[in-house]
Amino acid sequence: MTAATDNARPWNDCRLFILGLDGGSFDLIHPWVKEGKLPNFGRYLNESSSGELQSTLPPMTFPGWSTMMTGKNPGRHGIYDFTQRRLGTYEIDIINAADRKAKTIWRILSDAGRRVASVGVPVSFPPEPVNGVMISGFDAPVNDSRIMFPPELFEELNGAMGGYVTSADFARDIAKGRIDQSVAALLASVDRKWATAEYLLKREPWDCMMLVFGETDACIHYFWKYHDPASPHHDPVTAQKTRDPILAVYQRVDRYLGELLDHLPKDATVMLVSDHGVGGSSDKILHLNRWLEQQGLLRFRSTSLSGRLRRIQMKLLNSAKSWVRTVLPKPMIRRIRFRQKGMGMKLESHLRFSILDWKNTTVYSEETPYYPNLWINLKGRDPDGIVEPGADYERVRQSVIDLLQSWRDPDTGQPVVRKAYRREEIYQGPHLDKAPDLIIEWNLDQGYAYLSRPTTASSGRLAVERISYREMQRSNFMINRSGSHREMGIFAVKGPGVKKGHWLAGARIQDVAPTVLYLLDRPVPTDMDGSVLKDGLTEAQLAMRPVQYQEAETAPSEEAAYVYSAEENEKVSERLKSLGYME
Ligand SMILES: [Zn+2]
Repeated sequence: MTAATDNARPWNDCRLFILGLDGGSFDLIHPWVKEGKLPNFGRYLNESSSGELQSTLPPMTFPGWSTMMTGKNPGRHGIYDFTQRRLGTYEIDIINAADRKAKTIWRILSDAGRRVASVGVPVSFPPEPVNGVMISGFDAPVNDSRIMFPPELFEELNGAMGGYVTSADFARDIAKGRIDQSVAALLASVDRKWATAEYLLKREPWDCMMLVFGETDACIHYFWKYHDPASPHHDPVTAQKTRDPILAVYQRVDRYLGELLDHLPKDATVMLVSDHGVGGSSDKILHLNRWLEQQGLLRFRSTSLSGRLRRIQMKLLNSAKSWVRTVLPKPMIRRIRFRQKGMGMKLESHLRFSILDWKNTTVYSEETPYYPNLWINLKGRDPDGIVEPGADYERVRQSVIDLLQSWRDPDTGQPVVRKAYRREEIYQGPHLDKAPDLIIEWNLDQGYAYLSRPTTASSGRLAVERISYREMQRSNFMINRSGSHREMGIFAVKGPGVKKGHWLAGARIQDVAPTVLYLLDRPVPTDMDGSVLKDGLTEAQLAMRPVQYQEAETAPSEEAAYVYSAEENEKVSERLKSLGYME
């Protein structure tokens, strides 16, 4: 008998249950609630204080969840992206939870003797030794006992429900155009995660349990084109044959939200969060380094014949990599990768940077496929830096900000950039030096988010390139991302002392951690950037129990670094590539 069918076992107490959606939007939920398609979301929101939750800038998964779990901005926890620059080089490393330099709510609650369970929260590999259990998120590089604390839980779940899988394997089905199979894989993954949470709820009482479904994000990236008839990626033929996959995933989540509402004790608090919002992608691709080249700020080593050959070589390498991923059987891919041991990330940064003529480059971008930002080629930091720190650095930053803000989409005449910021305008803290020098808030192209790709992957000469419908429909993960992230995610909370049916304005992602601590009778550390969302609480509650604060420790304990092996690096980058987060 599996845990999911073992209905006879009663649920234990869980004081606070946090249901996390990777990517979530009331733009989807509210209309579906009105149409009666999400009945449990409907009854939950009626009883809740809810509102939009402002994500980090840019609204990305790793910094988003890290800020939510620490109550601190990326300047204090050090996570800005899936990868980080190895300072002093032009190389990059994939981030893991040991790179996070701030305490999570799991650590704080554990230290206070609270019993916690965290299931599937991104950036929780390696898992923390908590007072309770922690199961890593989709970004874990392995699928064995190392993804769980305590490690014995892995065997226990194998016995109880046939194992746990961090992420659905849907990439191959999508690449082959097998939409129904990939949706089924996503739904099965939601089921398995739910079964794990239910098993843990039946196993023992918890002060705080959190469960994150990454499937809501994956379905946005790949299936927005079947959901939104106005999307430039819209595929009417397949859409007609396919039930909206995004609705299917939300309805599955709705089912389990209903289980929570029915089976948790009546005085349990249930919170709903997402790390960012969601929306559609444009059919236009930005090549940020090409734009910099056109402004005279960057030069490619491509004017010579060898440079051109190099570019062709790299394009071949790019397409060979995706060909290898879609065509070859898995064991063979593993063998090839084994031979390339240690090459994974080198290859990645090589593709990003090797064609730049550093002596003639003042500003450059990593050209990540989402929210590309800018680095100044700075003397003393970058190996071939040419810009002097101090006045020169500031002058270059100001001129690039001015240029970015006057950049117009040649097609619509609209600004491409909403606003460009110096990094210190957005982030504060001891890890500011890891942030790109300039952060760009991108405009939408008539409601749809621009895609971004490396200049090396383009054959044209344009900085804003429109891709043909035919090209978009080809099974190419990078171009095929018809959905993308937005700044405004979701927040809701229901429980004792919480206002019912209240719309909450101004909630920010860093406010979640202090609010969680308050709801569990813990003081809020004074070094958190967020504050308790008092607007969601009743006057009586706040009068009875005002927010308490606690002086933060002066020297936060540093987690030992966890360095990924070449093989682990490859596994994580494959996962990120399949979601379109990495080229
Ligand atoms: Zn996403």
